[in-house]
Amino acid sequence: MIGRIHSIETCGTVDGPGLRYVIFLQGCLLRCQFCHNPDTWDTKGGIEKSVADIITDLQDYLPYIKKRGGITVSGGEPLLQIDFLLELFKECKKLGLHTAIDTSAGCFRESPAFLNKVNELLKMTDLVLLDIKHLNKDLHKQLTGMPNAHIMKFAKLLADKNVPVWIRRVLIPGRTDDPQELTELNKLITKLGNVQKVEILPYHKMGVYKWEQLNLDYPLAGVEPPTEAEIQRAEELLSIT
Ligand code: SF4
Repeated sequence: MIGRIHSIETCGTVDGPGLRYVIFLQGCLLRCQFCHNPDTWDTKGGIEKSVADIITDLQDYLPYIKKRGGITVSGGEPLLQIDFLLELFKECKKLGLHTAIDTSAGCFRESPAFLNKVNELLKMTDLVLLDIKHLNKDLHKQLTGMPNAHIMKFAKLLADKNVPVWIRRVLIPGRTDDPQELTELNKLITKLGNVQKVEILPYHKMGVYKWEQLNLDYPLAGVEPPTEAEIQRAEELLSIT
């Protein structure tokens, strides 16, 4: 089974618990205005690697990631390559690894064929890091190019199956920090019942140069990262403190 890989971080510490082997898969259907990896969007980009290549490569790190960490598949959008994920997680489970998917669920759909695969995958998934970029469908579309109904359905599916979830929110001043919406998000998180952790990812501009390299206009030019006080206020609204 071959996957299209953007990059690999062998000792990641921010995408799930502990020390993690993080694979960034190529391809994404969303077009987030704040994306710091627009070079992952093209589904035909990246390099091809087989599941066997990955399993061979991670052997060097196995003692560390097995003891206190695991593997995280991020992107781009990992669910776009769900067949690859299924094979990969099957092999990871044989090695006794903790498995996590970092997803925005932009490609989630309720077709029976896709749902079957998702259900199969979730049986081998220990944690889902789920980005909820905005609750308002119009603002979500403005921010990402797509409405969010299918993403909310994915969140509900994870709750119904009681899959452990960390919710992530990229905090962008004036875009995703409305107190009322954050309060609603907090209520939703409580209602879902399967959310173990909520993380705020403060907006940053480290990927702007990639937009320039790709000859793309950066939509958030002039928007500054949140201040410490703004982050703290959002943390309070999301019951993180
Ligand atoms: S979902 Fe992630 S990779 Fe895709 S556009 Fe948004 S930030 Fe970028």
